[in-house]
Amino acid sequence: MKSFYVTTPIYYANSLPHMGHLYTTVVADCLTRHKRQRGYETCFLTGTDEHGLNIARAAERNGRTPKEQVDYIVGEMEKMFAAFGLDRESGGYDIFMRTTEPFHYEGASTFWRRVANGKTPKGRDNIFKDFYEGWFCAPCGTFKTDEELAPAASETEAPRCLIHETTVDRVSEEGYFFRLSDYDEALLELYDSRTDFIRPEARRNEVLSFVRGGLQDTSISRLRSSVGWAIPVPEDPAHTVYIWFDALINYITALGWGSEARRAEVGPEKFEKFWPGLHLIGKDILRQHAILWPAMLLAAGVEPPRAVVAHGMWLDQTGRKGSKTLGNALELPMLIRHFQPDAVRYFLLREMAFGQDCKVDYEAILERANSDLASGLGNLASRTLTMLNRYFDGTVPSPEISEERRLYAKRVGVGSDAQDLASSLELVRDQFVQSVEDFAFHRALEAVWGMIARVDKFISDAKPWELAKSEEQRETLGAVLYRSAETLRWMAVLLFPFMPESARALWRQLGQSSELERLDPTKLVWGGLAEGTRIGEVSPIFPRIDKAKTMAEIEKEIAQRNEKDSAPPEHSSEHSGTHATQAAVPGSETASEVKPEQPPQRGATEAEAATPATATSNAHAVATPEGVVNYITIDDFVKVEMRVGEILTAERVPKADKLLRFTVDVGEAQPRQILAGIAQHYEPETLIGRKIAVVSNLQPRKLRGFESQGMVLAASVGDEGRPVLATFTEDVPNGARLK
Ligand SMILES: [Zn+2]
Repeated sequence: MKSFYVTTPIYYANSLPHMGHLYTTVVADCLTRHKRQRGYETCFLTGTDEHGLNIARAAERNGRTPKEQVDYIVGEMEKMFAAFGLDRESGGYDIFMRTTEPFHYEGASTFWRRVANGKTPKGRDNIFKDFYEGWFCAPCGTFKTDEELAPAASETEAPRCLIHETTVDRVSEEGYFFRLSDYDEALLELYDSRTDFIRPEARRNEVLSFVRGGLQDTSISRLRSSVGWAIPVPEDPAHTVYIWFDALINYITALGWGSEARRAEVGPEKFEKFWPGLHLIGKDILRQHAILWPAMLLAAGVEPPRAVVAHGMWLDQTGRKGSKTLGNALELPMLIRHFQPDAVRYFLLREMAFGQDCKVDYEAILERANSDLASGLGNLASRTLTMLNRYFDGTVPSPEISEERRLYAKRVGVGSDAQDLASSLELVRDQFVQSVEDFAFHRALEAVWGMIARVDKFISDAKPWELAKSEEQRETLGAVLYRSAETLRWMAVLLFPFMPESARALWRQLGQSSELERLDPTKLVWGGLAEGTRIGEVSPIFPRIDKAKTMAEIEKEIAQRNEKDSAPPEHSSEHSGTHATQAAVPGSETASEVKPEQPPQRGATEAEAATPATATSNAHAVATPEGVVNYITIDDFVKVEMRVGEILTAERVPKADKLLRFTVDVGEAQPRQILAGIAQHYEPETLIGRKIAVVSNLQPRKLRGFESQGMVLAASVGDEGRPVLATFTEDVPNGARLK
């Protein structure tokens, strides 16, 4: 039996799953199901990368041990994947890999030793010790070259990671290096001999030119004292294995490579059967997969992967990559609440031209769900099935039109046989299958939807409801409905990998009971729908979404969430108990720090309209509730110095229920300590990295023994004056003056 092994990246377990994770996993799921239909024995791996500084940091922030942190994230990830039919139970992934599994430690150590004991193609040691100094992005888990960094905003600030838009750390320490520079020729040979090794073409060219430019040796360890939450370097436990080096190896340790225990668990032939595999990745981790990983495998004497296939990024409508920090990313729980899982899967596979970046928002998903699914496929299915019920008592009629009735059929434009339609369908099927093999999922779906439009038109032209009025047209009516139903049968088979649940529903409604998982689309033959088949109970497969209502709900939920801040569910549930306790403790010493009645905040409102031309017209913004306008002059306003600040740390102040203590970078040599009375409305850990507006020339004052060197601006909302932090939707440098 032919085998097919596909992997998603193992996702970094420091935060909850997002669109990017969902997309890669949906693609892998779709490919796996398609290959399974085609008769391949399949293995689909996803999972989590669970080591490194960022996980240790996230764990600390949440008051957990690193293991508790990753267990929590894995739990959430599995729930999320299950909601989209990607889990084991739904026929999705086979392996949920975790790099904290003991067998992975064993396999990764075996791998390290193999590499350490071997020579490069140029005859030198693969691994050597040296000093490394460089910029390290903790979220990426990688050292960054200059072109991967945005220049520092000021002399005191570090450069920023282009992917995360956060500052990077300067790191210098002794460690182990992998002599990647000796693998340039071997890699170029590999790319040359296997032109489909890196896809799409643009990514291949990118890698080729990077490797031709010469490779640098790469650091593959960190000091245990700086990154302790990682796999120890074999024979040198003062060092730990660099997370990328450790993580990449998962693709083979999962199959039992390097660990007898794992081999026994998954079956001794698992690795031999499934390796080499195909790696699906986002283009942001192309180099690790297309350069470092194959070189590592060559160094360990293991065959390189079958292919590395990179997709583009999901962007917001302004073209920026969705990120939690920017608050522009679509949230998976929101998608689960408002859309059918299959509608989301369909959107992801239909909207993105694989390999290119693609814009997305909730409305775009809704539009496609309504136009392509409810009005398109759903409508064709329900009108066909409903008419089968109405005119043929719920059974499939004969596809044939007898000799003597052919003239009647011809009169209403219905041909005596279905040859035309069947040929088109075969063509569409072939295009579809080829497109899936080429990762052009959007084109595969386009082809199917072209067919839906064609059959829709066929029905509208033939007007079955008119045919039903005439006994002479009974056979024509049957033939028309048969053709539509048979087309739907093909579509259920084709679309199963894309929308498993909906395809199954359609399948049942067509009266079919065989297993869609194993039906090979290339073996579909026209006429497979048997005359006399009893159709199943008919119900809408894709109910239409009320656009105005749903969008209003989504917007409301976003607004509520923004007000409470983007606390992920873990925080709200985890701390709700604490909240309640704290609310009961009186204390109002900090209320003045955030209430808008204070003059500086009026200034803040005024600041939005600081240009002289609009200052007057906006003056009503500082009207008191009584309607009395207290104008201030521009001179008053400029006395207040307000700057952009970034929250570096945030914590509760012991015994002060309302107070949070921040360190805030306002573009000065040292960050400032600022206290704010917003603890009842914000979880401190959710605020780290947030850009806020700070009054920076306020007389320092002491609150609960801490000096507050400035004031954080917030809106006051509702009767209770709930604080909502003023923030920026665009990227702004720390210390920028508000005017
Ligand atoms: Zn980064």
